[in-house]
Amino acid sequence: MAQEKLFFQSEAAELLKMMIHSVYSNKEIFLRELISNASDALDKRRIEVLSNSEEYGEYEPGIRILRDREKRTLTIEDNGIGMSRDEIVEYIGTIARSGTKEFLATAGKGDSSGKNDSLSTQEMLIGQFGVGFYSAFMVAERVELISRRLGATEAWRFESAGEGSYVVEEATRPECGTSVKLWLRAAGEDEKDYVDEWTLRDIVRKYSDFIAYPIVMNCSKWKDKVETVEDEVINSQKAIWSRPEAEVTEDEYREFYRHLSHDWQEPLTRIAINAEGSVNFKGLLFVPSQAPFDMFTNDRSGGVSLYIRRVFIMNDCKDLIPEYLRFIRGVIDSEDLPLNISREILQEDPRVRVIRRSTLRKVFSSLRKMLEGERETYEKFWTAFGRVFKEGVVQDREHAQTILELSLFRSTAMQLVENAEKGSGWTTPDEYIKRMKPDQEGIYYLVGRDASALKDSPKLEAFAEKGYEVLLLTDPVDEVVMAQTPEYGEKKFLNVGSAEVQATGEEERKEAEKKLETLQGAFEPLKKKIMAFFPEILSDARLSVRMKSSPACLVGAENAMSLQMEQLMHAMGHEIPVVKRVLELNPEHPVVRRLMSLAEANDERTEDFISVLYDQALILDGGTLTDPGRFARGLSRIMSMALEENPKKE
Ligand code: ADP
Repeated sequence: MAQEKLFFQSEAAELLKMMIHSVYSNKEIFLRELISNASDALDKRRIEVLSNSEEYGEYEPGIRILRDREKRTLTIEDNGIGMSRDEIVEYIGTIARSGTKEFLATAGKGDSSGKNDSLSTQEMLIGQFGVGFYSAFMVAERVELISRRLGATEAWRFESAGEGSYVVEEATRPECGTSVKLWLRAAGEDEKDYVDEWTLRDIVRKYSDFIAYPIVMNCSKWKDKVETVEDEVINSQKAIWSRPEAEVTEDEYREFYRHLSHDWQEPLTRIAINAEGSVNFKGLLFVPSQAPFDMFTNDRSGGVSLYIRRVFIMNDCKDLIPEYLRFIRGVIDSEDLPLNISREILQEDPRVRVIRRSTLRKVFSSLRKMLEGERETYEKFWTAFGRVFKEGVVQDREHAQTILELSLFRSTAMQLVENAEKGSGWTTPDEYIKRMKPDQEGIYYLVGRDASALKDSPKLEAFAEKGYEVLLLTDPVDEVVMAQTPEYGEKKFLNVGSAEVQATGEEERKEAEKKLETLQGAFEPLKKKIMAFFPEILSDARLSVRMKSSPACLVGAENAMSLQMEQLMHAMGHEIPVVKRVLELNPEHPVVRRLMSLAEANDERTEDFISVLYDQALILDGGTLTDPGRFARGLSRIMSMALEENPKKE
């Protein structure tokens, strides 16, 4: 087949341009990226061979670095899974990851402001988007890649100078795998020379020592003053998790985490596990410091890898860790499982269940330690992953209480979002309970869109007057979590947005009801008019003592979906029946009082007031007006009335 000229996808071309013109000082990391790709390719070959053992025979996995000092080329070669023509075009010619555009936009901004945690834009890009391969263009003027896919007979050659286009043509290669050849740029004054043996050794030791496959390099040997070239393994291949923690340096941990996670930032915490007993295993897990862009869409760079006696078995092994901990990166290495275990058998294996349980216990205890000892770090963790972690309350009933214990909430007693950076914007349920008033019936909460809007809700007024704290829940998942969780320990969760929940004790409630009873007659005409005006969306209109300063609010019937959830369901395209709500009115409020007499007198202005009152309650609840025209007309009429009644006195 003839040579084809193809163009990089536009985002890819943009990233490449950044690489080529990169002023990033740490260019040596290109080697780490290419070795990391080679190691991943060997992992992938292992996975495919395991599930297809008859077809693919024996092989010695390895990575090879070849240097040519005269021609100034450097080649990184592996006998991993390789790529087909289409895979080359897809993986190298484009960036599939979602959010690239958005990221490029923010990266551009970060560059000029010098923010981004003092890390350069290039480094962020290399980490976040796996532009790993492209980093070769920081040091090379031309890159050639020859690859043969496992199971294929033909190979493919890719070549590019990085400027917009590349060529692809058929080629040959004796076995499957990939070689990447770099034509190095002339090294600048302060730059390293990447064909120099000791430079390369240093870089490999610094970033890639733990790679589980041998990295072989053609090294110079002097024998009787004659230079010969011999192959030498230049990495120790020592599994970092099997070494005692005290022996491993922070740098080594950092590089290992980077390799594992493709994350450019330091992890928040590291969890080392050394379990001995009925099942023996070691683990090294990391909690990242930031959610990846794709956490909620796909978990590509993900999860926990399974090793058996230091041999890589599979990545993102879902049986080792529950779904709600999917942000954790790391490895688990078992001493006991058989090497030829398949995904299906894995699920059934009781030893895997033991590993999963004790890993989970270890994660919980490490999070608890962080919560108790490093509150600020914990709040970072919570901001990044709380939403995912909380899903556990629904998914894992057995540990629901533990997960709640480790959960953070906004509340009326805390400084809210805008002050969160100073810390202490959050509370745990236990801290809440310590602050509870003796006569409080349970843990009060209110769901809505954002905490600062919620704190102005009329529904909180009576609670505030009593000094009762209310949790302000703003994640979409909160409502489901609460619906599934009637209590925490011995305390009931009580939804302040529900018609049944009031800030009054038994006695007080009876008294209030008595008082409302006496007003019932006077309220009846207004109630009739309200119900006639909104027959579809209200299930009731009634007087209540819930509010202190506001005239009206909307509450849900018991277990009714909140307005937020209703809107979310609509936004997601679900057809759900109208959720009817209750309009509660504050009889102490002058507007409500006057309105009662207006309705009684059959005054024609009553409807305008009713409709504006309702819409106002809806807006305060974070709802959107269904009929903005009606609202505007009603409000205008009310304003003209007010002006007519109080003409400006000269
Ligand atoms: P990342 O490794 O972060 O995905 P890269 O740009 O480095 O990003 O690589 C893109 C993809 O190209 C990889 O995900 C992999 O599928 C493929 N690839 C890169 N290098 C190799 C290799 N040596 N062998 C097989 N596939 C490779």
